[in-house]
Amino acid sequence: MQRRKFIKDTFKGLPILLLTPTLLASSCKKENEPNGKTVVVIGAGISGLTAAKKLKEIGFNVIVLEAQEKVGGRLRTNRTLGVEFDEGASWIHGVNGNPITTLAQQAGMNIYETIDESRKSFDIGGVLRNATTYDNAEDELYSILNSMMNNGNATQSFETVFTNLYPLKANDRLWKFLLSTYVSFDTGDLNNLSSLLYNEGEEFNGAEKIAVNGYDRIANYLANDLNIQINQRVTKVDYSSNKIKVTHNGTITESDFIIVTVPLGVLKANSIQFVPNLPTAKQNAIQKIGMNCVNKFLLTWNTSFWDDVQYISYTPEIIDKFNYFVNVKSFIQL
Ligand SMILES: Cc1cc2nc3c(=O)[nH]c(=O)nc-3n(C[C@H](O)[C@H](O)[C@H](O)COP(=O)(O)OP(=O)(O)OC[C@H]3O[C@@H](n4cnc5c(N)ncnc54)[C@H](O)[C@@H]3O)c2cc1C
Repeated sequence: MQRRKFIKDTFKGLPILLLTPTLLASSCKKENEPNGKTVVVIGAGISGLTAAKKLKEIGFNVIVLEAQEKVGGRLRTNRTLGVEFDEGASWIHGVNGNPITTLAQQAGMNIYETIDESRKSFDIGGVLRNATTYDNAEDELYSILNSMMNNGNATQSFETVFTNLYPLKANDRLWKFLLSTYVSFDTGDLNNLSSLLYNEGEEFNGAEKIAVNGYDRIANYLANDLNIQINQRVTKVDYSSNKIKVTHNGTITESDFIIVTVPLGVLKANSIQFVPNLPTAKQNAIQKIGMNCVNKFLLTWNTSFWDDVQYISYTPEIIDKFNYFVNVKSFIQL
């Protein structure tokens, strides 16, 4: 769902990538010419795979170490229930100029446009909400999000400022739903979200398109021809000398450079020991940045009883629960 229309046109934050500057300098060499240098990439998610593919193309010897039994990380497609259900990423959020669009074409990932306006919203008891009421509230939300930072400050959360400014909205079920779906889904709990910086980041323009035959096709395409070692959990990175020593499953692999693409949670948990410790500024950033959890469920019925729209939403009392249903039948031939 296109939740963050209000920050379109600004650039989206990149996943964590710890990259030594000399590696970037070395990457200016001629394409395909082996340069005798080895790079270990930790993590075979889309970040690690993309970096590995690019570095291999420009002449590095690349070894990817992945803790799980498969590549893709949070690109994960479940095919056990009769449809290709993406448990992780599903959408290309804005196809224009988006490198994922090109990757999808190359990888044979079919995509289908989803339209936010193809929706029905239900209130408690299954009461259909008036479409105009929903549309007006959505417009007002965007307008508030575009200006609320003017009332924000460094010591108050989004939740506090919003509640002070709009006490009735803060208690309204439709507004709870909109805040949860359009804001906290992407940014985390509103009481931990800055009232000044909640709209940082950029997104691509263009249609929202959902993968219909598995987002993991992109991971598998990127992984093709790479040296990837699965079931290899990295526990230590010793970069105290010229040759970096990476410990995984009791083995040490040496490299000239290293790229760490593990999720923030892995870094926060200190699951990988860095020798010497990461610079203080990086450690502080890792500990200060928060994160949240998104769960997806696939529910199947033998016959469909719901309306033929793409999104069906329900606005319960509790914020951040069961935000919306995506009608898979509207874009997949079953
Ligand atoms: C439910 C859900 C829905 C999403 N929907 C979308 C969407 O529709 N569109 C979109 O653009 N994005 C979406 N995202 C976000 C997107 O999936 C991620 O931003 C992206 O996949 C992250 O890729 P990554 O390579 O940075 O990290 P990851 O995919 O997390 O890859 C990191 C890899 O590191 C490995 N690893 C961890 N620790 C170690 C270790 N110690 N040693 C070795 N390997 C290790 C992990 O196993 C993993 O494979 C969604 C995410 C989730 C969870």
